[in-house]
Parts: sequence; C-alpha cells; structure tokens
Amino acid sequence: MRPLLHPALTCVWRDATTVQIGTTPDRALVIGGLGPIEAAVLRALDGHNTLPTLRDLATAAGGDPQIADRIVDMLVSAGAAVDGEYVTADSNGLPAESTPDRASLGLVDRSTDGGHATFTRRGRKRVEVIGAGRIGATVARLLAAGGIGDVGVDDEALVDAADVAPGGHPAAHVGLPRGRSLGSILPRRPRRGSPSEAQPDFVVLAPTKAAEHQAVATSLLHADVPHLLVHVVEIAGLVGPLVVPGSSACLRCLDLHRTDRDRDWPTVLDRIARTSPRTPPCDTSLATTVAGLAAGHVLAFLDGYDVASINGTITVELPYGLPRRKSWRPHPECDCGGADAAQ
Ligand SMILES: [Zn+2]
Repeated sequence: MRPLLHPALTCVWRDATTVQIGTTPDRALVIGGLGPIEAAVLRALDGHNTLPTLRDLATAAGGDPQIADRIVDMLVSAGAAVDGEYVTADSNGLPAESTPDRASLGLVDRSTDGGHATFTRRGRKRVEVIGAGRIGATVARLLAAGGIGDVGVDDEALVDAADVAPGGHPAAHVGLPRGRSLGSILPRRPRRGSPSEAQPDFVVLAPTKAAEHQAVATSLLHADVPHLLVHVVEIAGLVGPLVVPGSSACLRCLDLHRTDRDRDWPTVLDRIARTSPRTPPCDTSLATTVAGLAAGHVLAFLDGYDVASINGTITVELPYGLPRRKSWRPHPECDCGGADAAQ
C-alpha cells in the first residue's frame, strides 16, 4: 500500500499542530496535538511512499516507527486516506470523464481503492430504460455516465420536439425512433458476464403516457427484476417506488392503498390511462431533477444501498422544489409477497 491523503478531500492546517481533512460534517476529520514527527508523516502521504518508507521517515525524524502505522490506520479507518496504487490519474483504463464520479464513490464507500472496485462493478451491470421521452432519455444518459456498462432503451416512438432536453435527446434527432436516437449517444462499453439479451439487472420505468407502465411492472415483478418508476405528472415530479420483488411495496400495493382511501381510484386510474392532456406539461428543470434523482437511486441500489425510494415515493413539486418523501408499506392484500417479507 502507498497511503495517499484522500484526493477527494481538502486538507488544511488549522494551526501548526491541528489538521482538518474534509469539510462536510459526515466526512470532516480534525486531528489535533500533532508534533513535528506526525506532521512529517502526514505530509509524506502522497501516494508514492510505502508504509516501510513512512516508518523510516518517522525514525529519521527521531520518533517511533509505529507512529506511521498509527496515523495511516486512523486515516484509512476514517476514510480519509486511500491506496495511491489504485487512485491514479488514468485509473486503470476507466474513462477520464468518470474521475469525479469515482472520487465521489470513494467517499461514499470509504474504500481504500477510492471507489475503483465499486465503479468497475457498475460496468458489468445491465439496466433497461422503458420509456425514453424527456425524462427516460436523461435517466439513460446519466446511468451510462455513472458507469453502467450496458444501458438499453426500449421505446420505438419517434422523437418529437417535446422530447428534446439538454440531458436527453438532441434537437437534431427529432424524427428518429427514441431508442435509436439514444443508441447513437450512449457509450458502448464491453461488459463482462452474461450476454446482453439476458434479463437486465434493473429496469427504469419512465412512462411518457399515464399508466402505460402497469403491465410491464407486473411482468417485472413476476420475473423478479427490481424496477423504479419515475415520471412527471402536471407540476409534480415523482420518483419511486423502487420495487424489490417480494420484499418491498410494489406499484399495485400503492394502488391498493390509494383505493383504501378513495374507492373510485381504480375507475379514475382506468380512465386516466385512456386519455391524456392535449399538451402534457413537463418542466425541463423538474424533469432533469427527477431524472437525476432516479439515476442516483438506481446506481446506489446496484451498489448495495437501501435507497429512499424503497417503500417510498419522493415528490418534487413546482415552484418550490422541496423534495418530500412519503412512506408506503406493502399492502396485505397484494400478492407480490412484500407484506409477508415486511412481517
Ligand atoms: Zn404489492
């Protein structure tokens, strides 16, 4: 190991004996009472020196060689130092544009490889986006930028002017099938593992018409494929639920809860599915906000985290933009198995 002060954190000396690494409450580490030997070791954590070299440095400065071990152990366990052998500028062939993403991931998982292994694992994942209007197209591009190795898009409707967005379809693609439009933009990375026609690891449902996702959601549930709903309705952007089949609330669970509160809900839902406003509203900033939120939840879920859209929906509403989370429990009358798992 060649210890390196975490390159994604700022290191500042508060005074001659106190150092602060990181800024935000969750990541900042303040170490006080440092003498000249400890300070020399800290300043030598540049990713080039090995632990034996650091011990020699502590000894040469007149101290105990174990000082180097204690400092490195403390910094590594706090997520404030990484192994410089992994965290290099070219990062073992990963794309240079993903460097900030990997730096961020390294802070999240506090790994000594600076997020390298987790980001590499994303490259082996296959995510399908069903519905590629303004929101779905942006989600697909964000997932690819986040390192997902195989992002498929299932939507053969033609790109129209209303689908064009800064993070989605470019204006020059109006008239192309939506899937083909994105296929020419999304990076293609060789993905090791199962062939691309195999079941995806995850599906994002980004319907461009009300309720068009329901049949697909049911088949995903039965196929045991985790999935997430993201859409904009009027001036509300909604992310969730993220459905983990058999262990969390599914889309039908939510409709059963709504029916408990409003017995006419199934009728309303059925009629909404048959009609749509003449000019469906979809604010670009709101669409981009929920697309970003959705992509972040998918990436974190695939990294192994229990994200806030599991058993929940997050709503962002114009014009104030304060995200609100609503909790949902699996419905006892739903046959998805979520209620059994929750007991
Ligand atoms: Zn259910």
